Amino acid sequence: MRVFKFGGASVKDAQGIRNLAGIVSGEKDDLVVVISAFGKTTNALEIVLRTWMNNEDSYKDHLENIYDYHDSIVEELFRSDNPVKIRINNSFSDLKNHLTTAAKSDYDFEYDQIVSYGEIWSTLIVSEYLNITGNNNIWTDIRKVLITDERYRDANVIWDITSDNVRRVFNPESSQLFVTQGFIGGTLSGHYTTLSREGSDYTAALLANILDAESVIFWKDVPGLLNADPRWLPDARRLEQMSYREAVEMTFSGAKVIHPKTIKPLQNKNIPLYVKSFIAPLEEGTVVVAEPEVKRIIPVFIKKENQMLISFLPKDFSFVMGDNLAGLFSLFFRYGIKVNLVEASAVSIDVCIDDERLKIDALMNNLHQEYTAIYNDNVEILTIRHYNAEAVEHITYGREILLEQRTRSTVRYVVRKL
Ligand code: ADP
Ligand code: ASP
Ligand code: MG
Repeated sequence: MRVFKFGGASVKDAQGIRNLAGIVSGEKDDLVVVISAFGKTTNALEIVLRTWMNNEDSYKDHLENIYDYHDSIVEELFRSDNPVKIRINNSFSDLKNHLTTAAKSDYDFEYDQIVSYGEIWSTLIVSEYLNITGNNNIWTDIRKVLITDERYRDANVIWDITSDNVRRVFNPESSQLFVTQGFIGGTLSGHYTTLSREGSDYTAALLANILDAESVIFWKDVPGLLNADPRWLPDARRLEQMSYREAVEMTFSGAKVIHPKTIKPLQNKNIPLYVKSFIAPLEEGTVVVAEPEVKRIIPVFIKKENQMLISFLPKDFSFVMGDNLAGLFSLFFRYGIKVNLVEASAVSIDVCIDDERLKIDALMNNLHQEYTAIYNDNVEILTIRHYNAEAVEHITYGREILLEQRTRSTVRYVVRKL
């Protein structure tokens, strides 16, 4: 059994879906295909959600645009009597119905009920296209299989129930080819959940773990894992091999190419991850394994954008490192704030966190009696793994450095955004 994952960048138009079918047709093993929403559909659904929550009527136009986008792909791929059109129409009607009748409750909860539709539409279309091109498959609604807790927008998988479900549903005796959604799940009570943005990678890794897959392939719009995001540093080079350790450090530091939670389930079962070009499927790509054979290490550059640097100073001048640290971190967790960098001294602690104002305001309300907080917004974290002087110069030249951290292998800079 192998697991393939296709992201929105690969399936963004009819040609992308034809290409996907070509790649899947060439596969001889049992296969689970995990797909995320087409193109930028998740972003577009976020806009529907926001306008709907604000009682703005424009949500209908935003949804109509998403419908037109899917409909044009359907028109291009299928004959007019293909039942997929009805399935897509029905699913859009379900969502419209929800938007006209549902009481608006918690934002994160509503997010998952609405935004999760993107993956349903993409997989319905891809599954049917595979069927008509001779790749018979079973379409599976992962919301009934991958069971999570109720931490909406960042749900945690309930492992024992999910593993039983996954083994039962993705049984090679039922089919050699399954098509399912990444990123989404469901609660025991039947609500939809999501695993956080870019979470399809994580879904693919979870399924691979549970099914003891031989390997996982992420088909991407890049030739593999590169030593930087090519949109940032166009001279980025492909890395032939990488260790799980390196990959987890890279993704945690902010490399947007793979969701950070992806590596653990693969490492735990020693399952190799290939990252390959969707455009040039025969090219080698990158393989992520426990012990890479290629030892040549070049600097890897990672940028984490949209950060806020906050210094907390206990007002009573007590040491930060004792109880204060535990207390602060339990509050970060409670408000869903992810800490990306920490630097502590005797009576202050600096943290870099994602700039999410609502969460930060809630945290501050809780803390302002005991702590003074000093903010720097509009900052980003630049990380270099396996740095050297030239690499440092390459990315820090002309930048205002607010904080620097160095270990033997890694250097990090918190810099003001240009
Ligand atoms: P998908 O939709 O398939 O999940 P993503 O857009 O999430 O694809 O990830 C692919 C993108 O990740 C690339 O287009 C590239 O710009 C970006 N990226 C960031 N860092 C890296 C890196 N180190 N190597 C390759 N791509 C990277
Ligand atoms: N469609 C989701 C997103 O855009 C999940 C994913 O692409 O992995 O975040
Ligand atoms: Mg992605």
